[in-house]
This record gives sequence, C-alpha cells and structure tokens, in this order.
Amino acid sequence: MSRCSIEKIFPPTREAIARAARVLRDGGLVSIPTETVYGLGANALDQEAVNKIYKAKGRPADNPLILHVSSMREAACYAEINHKAELLMHHFWPGPLTIVLYSLAVVPAVTRANLDTVALRVPMNSIALELIRDAEIPIAAPSANKSGRPSPTTARIVYEDLGDSVDMIIDGGPTSIGIESTVVDATEGAVTILRPGGVTREMLERIVDVAPGDDPEIKYRSPGTRHRHYAPSISLSLWDGEKTDVFSETRGSKWCYMGLREPLPGSVRSVVFDSLEEYGRKLFSTMRDLESCGAEFIIADLPDDSGLGEAIRNRLMRASMDDDIG
Ligand code: AMP
Ligand code: MG
Repeated sequence: MSRCSIEKIFPPTREAIARAARVLRDGGLVSIPTETVYGLGANALDQEAVNKIYKAKGRPADNPLILHVSSMREAACYAEINHKAELLMHHFWPGPLTIVLYSLAVVPAVTRANLDTVALRVPMNSIALELIRDAEIPIAAPSANKSGRPSPTTARIVYEDLGDSVDMIIDGGPTSIGIESTVVDATEGAVTILRPGGVTREMLERIVDVAPGDDPEIKYRSPGTRHRHYAPSISLSLWDGEKTDVFSETRGSKWCYMGLREPLPGSVRSVVFDSLEEYGRKLFSTMRDLESCGAEFIIADLPDDSGLGEAIRNRLMRASMDDDIG
C-alpha cells in the first residue's frame, strides 16, 4: 500500500470525524462506513459536490443517490412524509431500509437524477450517524466502488477503487451486513420493493402492504436496477443447486466456487459459507478475492429467495448479466 493510502484512511476518532464533517461541508468526498457497505459521501445539497460522486464512480447520470440523514425529523426537511413512510421509519430506522418519497424542492435535481422523488435512509452505524450530525447536512452516498464493480465492505477496498478521487476514508472495520439497503417506493399504493436488501420482504410485510415481486415496471421506477452491477472481473455462472450442467460446462477451464452448498469437485478454490447471513456479509469481498485466484470463472450458488436470499439472488443475477437491461 502506498503512503498516500495511509494518509487518506483514518481511524474513526473524534478529530477525524470532525475533520471529515468539514471536508463534506466544503464540498469534498468522504468515504463512510455504514452497516451495509461503505458509502462515497458528499453534501447532497451541493450540486458540484454531487457531480464529483458521479465522476469518481463513473456512475450513469440517470442513477439517483440516496440521502443519508440522522433522524426522521431531518428526513422531513427533504421529502413529503406519509403515514406508510412513518410506520416504516419507526420500525426500521436506523437500519438498512431506504425509502423513496416525493421530494421537496430543496433537493437538487442532480442528486435525484431529475426524478420527482428522493431516496432517504438513516444508517445504523454510530460513526456514520456522528458524521451526519457533525456535518449538519444530508449526505448523498452511493456505494464507494467504481460503477459496476462489487460494493466495498472494507476501507482498503474503497481505497483500491477510489483512492485517487476521495479526500478521506473513515475506517470503521468490515461492514456487518455486507449487502446494500433494501430500497422501497412508499409514494402511493402498496409499498414496492425496488431493490431487495438487508430488510427482507417478510419483515416489511409485517408492517405494511407490499406489492408482489417480479414487476417488470420496476426497472423504469428505479433507474439503478437497469444497469449491470456488482460484477467481478472474471465471469460469473449461477448454480441453482439442482442441475449440475454448470459444472459439466467447465470443460477443462479453471473455475472457483462460492456458496452455501458443497460444490462438485474440481474447483481451483471454493468458499463455502455457514449461513445466509455470512453469504451476504462476504458476498462482495469473496467476489473480489476470487478474481485473482487463477480461475477463468466463478460458479456461485443461488440461494432460495426467502429472507436475505432474495437480496443475494438479486446481486448474483445482476453480476452475471452480460450487459445492461436497456
Ligand atoms: P447505490 O447507492 O449505488 O447502492 O444505489 C442506490 C439505489 O437507489 C439505486 O438502485 C437507485 O436507482 C435507487 N434510488 C435512489 N433514488 C431513487 C429514487 N428517487 N427513485 C427510485 N430509486 C432510487
Ligand atoms: Mg452501488
């Protein structure tokens, strides 16, 4: 690691957080640990700062950002809060649930990619919360990776992808959930899951009416879901645990494996997880580790879609896509 990285990565001391808050207020970029993945933060109300996020990530301009705030009261400064949203906030904030609501005019168009809605979340990470409170601004923070790459779950991975463009990285250790937040649209009608994540469909259904999954319209309502994402640099094949075709198709090429079930023999390396939670927590870092294990592709085990399985399936399916949906 170069000297530069050591100068940019800070342990989460009071001084470092105060300094990061100043950097954010001055229009800089700070990578922040959350319970899901590391975010690339900027002042959500400052168009120039927000433009730096898109540039650093190489993120398509049609993919809006999530505003990270420290309380429900603060969220009400940026969006029209309705009864369903209040219920969701009471039950799941702070936590890995992002709520899309009609935006107030104060949120710049660039932050919400010209939509009339805005996405909001209160993270459950004491460092992130302290920083948001210190900065006294909402922090727009997508995952701190180059667009299309697996999301970062450690400060070191953020540095590898964005070390040149970020002003500071606050090191909060490995993230506890490892998969991005669930994104729901709570503007009108039943709540729609735009992206499955750490708060599962079953958890949401206990609180509000949730629209059934598999709605082909979702990609038009949540622009980010149109793009290929989360992908390792070698190709990824999926195994549903039933047919073994995916293993017979290896035909002499080197492959590696990750998943819950034991793979067929013959892998260069295999990583078998003990639980869905561990699969979620290590999904992205394992993708990155396996890229350099000497294999030509990764075979990944597709879990069932109950609980956290829905989010893991979603990430794996998007990582295995050849291209954007369009
Ligand atoms: P990221 O922060 O990179 O993990 O991605 C944020 C996700 O939230 C993307 O899938 C976006 O499309 C989605 N998102 C953010 N704002 C909105 C919004 N106003 N309406 C719908 N989806 C949104
Ligand atoms: Mg992302």
